[in-house]
Amino acid sequence: MDFRLTAEQELWKRMVREFAEKNIEPRAREIDEKEAGIPEEIIQGMAELGIFGITIPEEYGGCAMPGQEMVYAMITIHELARAELSMSLPVYTLLCLGWSYLIVKHGSEELKREALPKVASGEWFMGINTTEPQGGSDVSAITTTAVKEGDKWVINGEKAYISGVTEATTRGGGHLSLFVTDPQKGHRGMTFFYVPAQLPGITTTVYRDMGRMGLSTGGFVYKDVEIPDYYRLSEVGRGFHMNMEGFNVARIVVAAACTGAAEKMLEIGVDYTKQRILFGRPLINFEGISFEIAEDHTDLEMTKLMLQKAAWMVDQFYAGTGEFTKADINKAAAMCKLRAPLLAARVGQHVMMQLGAFGYTKDCPVEMGLRGVLSYCVGAEGGQNIMKIIIARDYAGDEAVPYRGTQKQLR
Ligand SMILES: Cc1cc2nc3c(=O)[nH]c(=O)nc-3n(C[C@H](O)[C@H](O)[C@H](O)COP(=O)(O)OP(=O)(O)OC[C@H]3O[C@@H](n4cnc5c(N)ncnc54)[C@H](O)[C@@H]3O)c2cc1C
Repeated sequence: MDFRLTAEQELWKRMVREFAEKNIEPRAREIDEKEAGIPEEIIQGMAELGIFGITIPEEYGGCAMPGQEMVYAMITIHELARAELSMSLPVYTLLCLGWSYLIVKHGSEELKREALPKVASGEWFMGINTTEPQGGSDVSAITTTAVKEGDKWVINGEKAYISGVTEATTRGGGHLSLFVTDPQKGHRGMTFFYVPAQLPGITTTVYRDMGRMGLSTGGFVYKDVEIPDYYRLSEVGRGFHMNMEGFNVARIVVAAACTGAAEKMLEIGVDYTKQRILFGRPLINFEGISFEIAEDHTDLEMTKLMLQKAAWMVDQFYAGTGEFTKADINKAAAMCKLRAPLLAARVGQHVMMQLGAFGYTKDCPVEMGLRGVLSYCVGAEGGQNIMKIIIARDYAGDEAVPYRGTQKQLR
């Protein structure tokens, strides 16, 4: 057993950290305050470093290390989140890395050639488009349809709470999207497509979120929108399962964003409480503070190890070693998504208290970190209770699933 990163992985981690500390961290507040506004020069710098190509093979313009894609993605997102606590830029990036990886695995050759080089070069955004206004957890209840007409698919319906609506509309790119293709068949009547954001018949809305201000969240309305068949990723009727497969990848990088944010906030707390003198001694000298920090560090270490294992498992799965089943991956990814956001939110709250009134001001990055990580407690990439249901089902079988005996499926 070896818990170390390889020399190459360590080198990559150092490169991303250096870049992020120099170019991103000083501008984190600006990103948080400028809606839909990650500065272009940052995206270009990240692209030049190879960040957007880390899950994309060389032949499509990327620089993936075969068999280590998720480990590299985890390292990258963790480092970005340390530097940009509002989470806008880490989330922008994790969406691009995670969902373009699904195109690598399942896209048609034409789609790969069209989209992947543009994502790798930083030009395009790539996201996920599952949730609809009537609820995100019950994916089997979506109603947006794709109907085959000749050699095209025609889409009608509405998606809601989608990250990167403005970015995909203005920069180019789009979202992997789940649509109903046979309404009689429940979750077995769904198909997974790539849909560019800039097509005739698409209108968008943008919400005002409490955090992640540098990355838009919004909705799409589709009115007779046409897409070619080569944008279809799954077999007809197999989209639900492919969407869930993508969520596993996404949950790993989401957890990495949360561990990065938690680690950075903890460091801010330690630095501050070492310097703050109260009652004649440094604040960290009081066990009410140092024990809390010790607990949080321990939980962070546990979460990082679990995440490292899960990322490695996903890499083994895609490398075809046969060691892990889809159910193993579902559970491992759900555990990371359950634990990491809650940990990051708890750490954010603890550190804010340790910093007192200063922690509540916008002169301190902790408040934007707390707002940012809460998006992942609320639901992005699946609600926390849904993670618990996935884990419980793995341990206890269908007895532990509330929808046993129905066609309902959980994301
Ligand atoms: C900032 C942000 C960005 C997002 N970006 C995207 C995106 O890019 N693409 C996308 O497709 N979606 C996105 N989402 C939507 C996200 O996936 C949904 O919020 C999530 O799936 C939960 O759906 P919901 O919000 O409709 O809540 P609901 O499904 O209405 O659930 C409400 C609450 O009930 C809980 N719950 C649900 N079912 C059960 C149950 N059986 N037992 C116990 N508790 C239950 C949930 O955990 C949740 O806490 C985003 C959300 C946020 C907040």
